Amino acid sequence: MKFSVALAAALAGEEPTLAGASALLSARGEQLEAMGQAADKMRKAQVGEVVTYVVNRNINFTNVCIKRCHFCAFSDDLRGGKGYFLPLDEIIRRAEQARAMGATEICVQAGLVPELDAAGYLRITESLKTACPELHLHAWSPEEIKHGARQSRIKVRDFLADLKRAGLDSIPGTSAEILDDSIRKRLAVGRITSAQWLDVIRHAHELGLPSTSTMMFGHLESAVDQAGHLLTLRRLQQQTGGFTEFVPLAFVHHQAPLFSSNPDVRPGPCADERRAVYAASRLLLGDCIPNLQVSWVKEGLQASQKLLAYGVNDVGGTLVNESISTAAGAPHGQMQAPAQLLDLIAGSGRPAQQRDTLYRPISSAASRPWDEDYGDWQRLRDEPDFAYGASGNPSRSAAVSTSQAKP
Ligand code: SF4
Repeated sequence: MKFSVALAAALAGEEPTLAGASALLSARGEQLEAMGQAADKMRKAQVGEVVTYVVNRNINFTNVCIKRCHFCAFSDDLRGGKGYFLPLDEIIRRAEQARAMGATEICVQAGLVPELDAAGYLRITESLKTACPELHLHAWSPEEIKHGARQSRIKVRDFLADLKRAGLDSIPGTSAEILDDSIRKRLAVGRITSAQWLDVIRHAHELGLPSTSTMMFGHLESAVDQAGHLLTLRRLQQQTGGFTEFVPLAFVHHQAPLFSSNPDVRPGPCADERRAVYAASRLLLGDCIPNLQVSWVKEGLQASQKLLAYGVNDVGGTLVNESISTAAGAPHGQMQAPAQLLDLIAGSGRPAQQRDTLYRPISSAASRPWDEDYGDWQRLRDEPDFAYGASGNPSRSAAVSTSQAKP
């Protein structure tokens, strides 16, 4: 389909086709600039001028994982690296510290530990909610939910319902990459399949657990594959309405085994492709997923500010302890204090608004200055007390002690 026809159809609010979506995602040069302006206009009409951000903290409590996703440099214990596992009291300490910093959300995701079953996930969930009931608990990717359910031989839907009862508020829409199994098999043998990912998300939405949605791009996929992914998310959102946002995630290649072992893999997207993906995402999803988030972790602060002109209305969170992209070689840091996100937004000339996880505006919570040492991913791996298997027992953490679990 011609780009001009696809753009006109998007602006007329027509249901997008695979050919039309592919044409938009392939736009470069003058077409890209025209699409950027159209996306900016559509963003203004759909969500206004405000740029939002959330004060949150990541707790990636272990890098030990039974999977070997080729794009992942975070899980390194079985690649000759160092495995760590935070004890439950350290996980809770980090959440309590986040609360004192003014955070409204904690985001908990980690590797798939062999010993962690449904009861273990429930124990972490319940313990965090008990310690910090004010914090929105955004936790457990579809891959982790599938893992916990499988380890305990229970149904995904039942596990999700148990997690919700234990205090889970929403789930990250990570582990989506590109929802096409022919690509997924090349990205990660044994990765959760497209159908399984959609199944977990659908059950979560039906149970009243919203989720984010994501796409990892700039590796093996084509514009057609990206288009198929976006339309798949669109169809699910039309059925459930459970996605709170869409976040394009540019592939970070530096330390990814996928890049060094496969000459077909691209070194992440070029700048034009990034702009095209953001602008096309606004045009293709904005009417059903109005919140489009730029990832400062992947793009950096300056580029994120520029991408605000391509349909974006959110700059994500403070994160405090970003590990996944840092491990892959992303050079943009492990946290941004609220003041830095406010500077980023102010530079765009648009107003800023702190939000909660569900995009409800909130007034800034009182918080002490962010001038302490909040931890560093590299140091975490060197800390003897956090070593996986310390004292010969990886389950010394109450987090995985199923005997203490309270499902
Ligand atoms: S992406 Fe997740 S599941 Fe895959 S190896 Fe990394 S931590 Fe494990």
